[in-house]
Amino acid sequence: MSELDILRQVFGYEAFRGPQQAIVEHVVSGGDALVLMPTGGGKSLCYQIPAIARQQAGRGTTLVVSPLIALMHDQVGALHEAGVEAAFLNSSLSGEEAAQVERRLLRGELTLLYAAPERVTTPRFLAQLDALAARGQLALFAIDEAHCVSQWGHDFRPEYRALTVLHERYPAVPRIALTATADALTRADIVERLQLENAQQFVSSFDRPNIRYTIVEKKDALTQLLRFIEREHAGEAGVVYCQSRKRVEEVAAALVEAGLNALPYHAGLEAGVRQQNQDRFLREDGLVMVATIAFGMGIDKPDVRFVAHLDMPKNIEGYYQETGRAGRDGAPADAWMAYGLQDVVNQRRMIDESPAGEDFKQVMRGKLDALLALAEATDCRRVRLLGYFGEKSEPCGNCDNCLHPPAVRDGSELARKLLSCIYRVQQASGISFGAGHIMDILRGKQTEKVSQYGHESLSTFGIARDSSESELRAVLRQLIAIGAVAVDGGMFNTLQLTEGSRAVLKGEVQVQLRESVAAPAAKRNRRSAAPAAAAQELGVDDQVRYINLRAWRAEVARAHNLPAYVIFHDATLAEIARRRPQSLADLQGISGIGAKKLEAYGADVLRVVGEGS
Ligand code: ADP
Ligand code: ZN
Repeated sequence: MSELDILRQVFGYEAFRGPQQAIVEHVVSGGDALVLMPTGGGKSLCYQIPAIARQQAGRGTTLVVSPLIALMHDQVGALHEAGVEAAFLNSSLSGEEAAQVERRLLRGELTLLYAAPERVTTPRFLAQLDALAARGQLALFAIDEAHCVSQWGHDFRPEYRALTVLHERYPAVPRIALTATADALTRADIVERLQLENAQQFVSSFDRPNIRYTIVEKKDALTQLLRFIEREHAGEAGVVYCQSRKRVEEVAAALVEAGLNALPYHAGLEAGVRQQNQDRFLREDGLVMVATIAFGMGIDKPDVRFVAHLDMPKNIEGYYQETGRAGRDGAPADAWMAYGLQDVVNQRRMIDESPAGEDFKQVMRGKLDALLALAEATDCRRVRLLGYFGEKSEPCGNCDNCLHPPAVRDGSELARKLLSCIYRVQQASGISFGAGHIMDILRGKQTEKVSQYGHESLSTFGIARDSSESELRAVLRQLIAIGAVAVDGGMFNTLQLTEGSRAVLKGEVQVQLRESVAAPAAKRNRRSAAPAAAAQELGVDDQVRYINLRAWRAEVARAHNLPAYVIFHDATLAEIARRRPQSLADLQGISGIGAKKLEAYGADVLRVVGEGS
């Protein structure tokens, strides 16, 4: 079978995505490859299709090295469903089960074998590979999550270093290494550590066009979140990231209170509970996971429709990785963040109080500033995001700023008032103060603290009487974002002038303020193609069929102990409901229905469709 035939018949997909075809062809013909593709880009097929093609050409088994035990089970399950012989070897298997997999491997029955890195480099396993290699039955090495080999990456795994043994021992076997980590330092490290100097590099755009980026000003975060979910994602799966365990618990409880199906996830939960919550998220429909960043690594659920940040992440890398978990299936998804002054202050404090060295802190502050600049941006978010990763692009039309360009106003005058106030107060009292007090002085509020320090006699007292507190906060955020004000992360979060203040005071740098814009609700409801949205667009009869199909899928998934999406994606079920197939032939060609699934489930699907008519 050609590569395209495999894509169509085995996986049921019509066409390759982006660089998949070039990668697949290169690897099938025996070349080495390093693949950099964003999360959801479709990395798995880049080695699964070559594995099938090379197996069919009589070249034997592909070994997939993967660090995530939890994921192997579902991946192998998905391959089974597609009719591909695959198995995994990891510590979750009993001795007898592992021995059975080894026998299948040696008999040449497996197209793909998934194994954890520490297993691969044991003498016992290498002896088995020797036996296969002697017969020319080692088709390909696929090294997934290849950034684990680098300590610059975020999940360094020392065991990955030992994987060079594969290349040294079996130099004739082609290798493909894959990662979603973009930065140049990590990439260079992967090449060196895995001796991939001669591998062709396939670097995809890191853009995720189906993800819509929205960053809103935090007012009442929980209410804003609830409104966002209810308006845009009722009944859909999503992840809500919070900074602390305590906040995770509170928010999860509040969502449940509001009638949503939500669960908490953080490192403080007992391991069993954590595992159970994760399993439920993967297997149930429409569950919202409220989590710290402990959650997410290796979650390849394709139909996560939104990722919300209730607290600001540490840097753009983190933001991009976390939001990247939305919309892996390519259907529209949202990355939504609420952010406010307090987030800035908190993050600064965490950096200042960390035990790291001053150099490291300086790097962290720089990264935080880049994220602040993104949050405060009045132009296209995607252009800024991609720019951060060194990619040039045009305004995207699918972020809040593109869809509802914020009215921009010159806030330079107000910014100068604010800066002079910080200066005067510092000069008069010899100490600096926090944002609240500075704003009180500017607005001429006669508070206890103002009297205590005699600040009503300052020349800046009341000079911004006409400005609202939220306006002043906006100016302050902008000033922090452009580095013209520093927040001392000590106990009192006091505000200080910086080198950058001067340029603003002199009028050399403009401060742009975005007027808060309420996103017009009507416009936003016109989404299409998202599973639930797709279902909403179905006629009443089609919807009944869709619901019946989902119920049937849930039963099958339970019986097979697999997540529902491994059986069929939502989009596939919606398409079936819409087409009302009468025969197996009608089912053919629907995206996501390969030959094996047609054979295994076709009759059942027709029956369910028939019952709904
Ligand atoms: P990654 O590992 O890069 O994050 P995956 O390999 O999990 O991404 O793929 C993401 C989703 O996209 C999966 O649900 C997969 O089935 C789907 N997919 C991948 N390639 C294609 C394609 N050519 N056509 C349609 N769907 C695809
Ligand atoms: Zn945009």
